[in-house]
Amino acid sequence: MNRSPDRALRTFDLALTLTWLILLAPFWLVRALLALIGAGRLFDHAHVLGHNRRPFVRLAFAGSLPGRDLAALFNILRGDMAIAGPRPLTVAEAAMVPAEANIRFSVRPGLFSPYQVQQRTGIAHDPESELDQRFVENLSVRASWGLSARALIAALLGGGGERPVPPLLDFFGVPIVNTTMDEAVEWIAVRAANHPGAARHPSLSKEGNTSDLALGAGEKALLAFVNPDCLNIAYTQDRYRAVLQQAARVLPDGIGVKIGCRMRGVGLAANVNGTDLFPRLCERAARDGFSLFLLGARPGIAELVAENMQARYPGLMIAGIQHGYFGPDEEDAIIARINASGAGVLLVAFGVPRQELWLADHHDALTPPVRMGVGGLFDFYSGRIPRAPLWLREIGLEWVWRLIQEPGRMWRRYILGNPLFLYRVWKQARQEAKAHE
Ligand code: UDP
Repeated sequence: MNRSPDRALRTFDLALTLTWLILLAPFWLVRALLALIGAGRLFDHAHVLGHNRRPFVRLAFAGSLPGRDLAALFNILRGDMAIAGPRPLTVAEAAMVPAEANIRFSVRPGLFSPYQVQQRTGIAHDPESELDQRFVENLSVRASWGLSARALIAALLGGGGERPVPPLLDFFGVPIVNTTMDEAVEWIAVRAANHPGAARHPSLSKEGNTSDLALGAGEKALLAFVNPDCLNIAYTQDRYRAVLQQAARVLPDGIGVKIGCRMRGVGLAANVNGTDLFPRLCERAARDGFSLFLLGARPGIAELVAENMQARYPGLMIAGIQHGYFGPDEEDAIIARINASGAGVLLVAFGVPRQELWLADHHDALTPPVRMGVGGLFDFYSGRIPRAPLWLREIGLEWVWRLIQEPGRMWRRYILGNPLFLYRVWKQARQEAKAHE
């Protein structure tokens, strides 16, 4: 899969690199000087593979001070690298690339890579090789320009640098599990597939079942996703906060939690939001043979979600559907229907905090092993409300999309809520710093 070097791309790279070198001259000259003074040498050298697996030396300014990567601009000038492209790999890393992703070597490696951009905002849930493959297949000056712009914005919002990644985060007394998307889906799947009422998929091996059964037997797990708005509510509403504290798991949703982590000097492993988790859960449910019950949203919406997801994931079992506009007198019958459905996962879309409080109120009466509050998720997957395009999500601005869609309802949440959340995080960080003095 060889692609002849694209002259337009190379011209774009050279023009942009020369512009940066001129504009950033004071910075890289000072950084070069600091490398010489601090480390006694100008560059650190990394031996990596480039276009067509040709080895080259990737430059970084010596020493651990910020600005190391500015030196890679010289790699771009030399033709070893492009501005945007798959990350240059070491020989050992290159050996791990699956055959179908070999196309990544048909272009110059990039200073900014598609995976790195998604990592900055915490949404790199797909394997790096898949993202590289998709990027190279659609490579153009426009794609390259777009990725560079997104990389710069994501760097500002998501922040660079290495920070410790604690297994548990604490925002206003709410413990949040700091985990990856894959682990979060696995956690749900082993509990859901373990349910006595769950139908077994014929393709599941006996050994697979045995190990699943060993994990999380008999649990009833409430799962919640929290974004800054939810954490603001938890800050003032004792009941909701207590429910989150008792939940089996609270997962971090959105760029706000990531920025909050950054303010506290820790790293967020991933932005494990319900909207990105849902298709992965459906895929897993279809594979492992557990079923989902969709409760909530306006009449007709969950039906559309079921249709869409079953078309995408053949074999997916939707155990039942119920809209979210029912009276208290209907509640018992609905709970009985949920329990009789044998669903492994109950998804409840009533909005925050109503859905979590409802799940807590009926914790004992309900039998599905995993229950989770999913907010507006059904509206997205039914197609009722379009989700923000990927490029906006990559730069951490999905919330701006939501604000534009429903300004009347969302302005309070974002325009007032976001700064209020950051102020409260700042206050918490200051209190913690004082306590440590
Ligand atoms: N909803 C519901 N019953 C109600 C009120 C709301 O089923 O009594 C649904 C509503 O149709 C929507 C979801 O709950 O699908 C809440 O969406 P929202 O965007 O407010 O959720 P969040 O922003 O909390 O994720």
